[in-house]
Amino acid sequence: MNVLVINCGSSSLKYQLIDMRDERVIAKGLCERIGIEGSRIKHTAADKDAVIINGYMPDHKAAIKFVIDALVSPETGVIKSVDEITAVGHRVVHGGENFSSSTIIDATVMNAIRDCIDLAPLHNPANIVGIEACQALMPGTPQVAVFDTAFHQTMPEKAYLYAVPYEYYRKYKLRKYGFHGTSHKYVSLRTAEFLGKKVEDLKLVICHLGNGASVCAIDGGKSIDTTMGLTPLEGLAMGTRSGDLDPAIVQFIADKEHLTLKQVIEVLNKQSGVLGVSEISSDFRDLEDACDAGNERAMVTMDLFAYRVAKYVGAYAAAMNGIDAVVFTAGLGENSGVVREDVCKYLNFLGVKVDKDKNKCRGIEQDFSAEWAHCKSLVIPTNEELMIARDTKDLVDNL
Ligand code: ADP
Repeated sequence: MNVLVINCGSSSLKYQLIDMRDERVIAKGLCERIGIEGSRIKHTAADKDAVIINGYMPDHKAAIKFVIDALVSPETGVIKSVDEITAVGHRVVHGGENFSSSTIIDATVMNAIRDCIDLAPLHNPANIVGIEACQALMPGTPQVAVFDTAFHQTMPEKAYLYAVPYEYYRKYKLRKYGFHGTSHKYVSLRTAEFLGKKVEDLKLVICHLGNGASVCAIDGGKSIDTTMGLTPLEGLAMGTRSGDLDPAIVQFIADKEHLTLKQVIEVLNKQSGVLGVSEISSDFRDLEDACDAGNERAMVTMDLFAYRVAKYVGAYAAAMNGIDAVVFTAGLGENSGVVREDVCKYLNFLGVKVDKDKNKCRGIEQDFSAEWAHCKSLVIPTNEELMIARDTKDLVDNL
């Protein structure tokens, strides 16, 4: 059984074809500049070098047509025909309160995803276009939606309600939803396997630290709180997003800089975070280089980032009355020993203690706790595509 996993952004599309017999990625790639001049695919078939295929992709449907051609072509392909794709799993960013798990897509589900456009105006429209394109090009092939928000639907009211008039929740479903749920779920399950324990018996704090970043408290396999909110702007300082701030700042900036509220939100999304504070880069590799060169602002920015992650780990230890492991994942969490150590230095009171040698790892599963640590510190690389493919397989097996 082959599952095609599709992740549509506004002008990009990532894909993986996974053979579910052994969960092997048999091809993967990225379509870039969809709808813009110079669109192209970077396609990699298993055991072969990546190839760049230039082509005219005015929209996502054209992009998916290119992906299918690349998958079946004699030169770059890995399957003989599109019929060898058993099902398609789509990453959908926002499922609102309608979805607490992945689901087979039908007309009702499509309408519910459309209903969430208000909550994710940048993401859900691209996801919808991707689903419609696959439906048109692979009629009869089951399509599954896997939501970034679904895993967090187990949060209790005390965690998801904002302390604003309740009528906004009643009228507009204004609440915390949380994101990166597919990653947090995968990493929590994998952590349990790695530790040889049942996820039901564990209290975990997962730090998904990439360009977008969030921390999640997972008690017995269920998300009970997370840092992102109604939108992915809340919580940690990120590459270019501010994360938490005094809400009155929005009006303050608007007045001082003569900006509309929409423009201020744009600043908070695109020009803030570690880019905004450091005035160097949103990429931690550049910040680490700047720190090595003695740049003080880069050092302050790194401190600010780690301090905020650590504060949330502490808060979630309180929320769960203890933790068994703090787990790092995603681009930064998997690759930066410096950031992991910077976060963990605040967590000795929880029994976290780092083994500096073990913490030198990159992109592999690793327990980097010192021997006497009471609380484990781990790196567990995320794999959202595999989680999407597994959910898709499970649903399609039961059709
Ligand atoms: P996203 O999926 O949110 O775009 P990723 O999970 O791919 O992000 O993470 C990207 C970020 O990870 C980069 O912006 C960079 O800051 C960080 N990163 C990746 N590799 C390294 C590395 N070797 N050292 C430090 N930071 C890294």
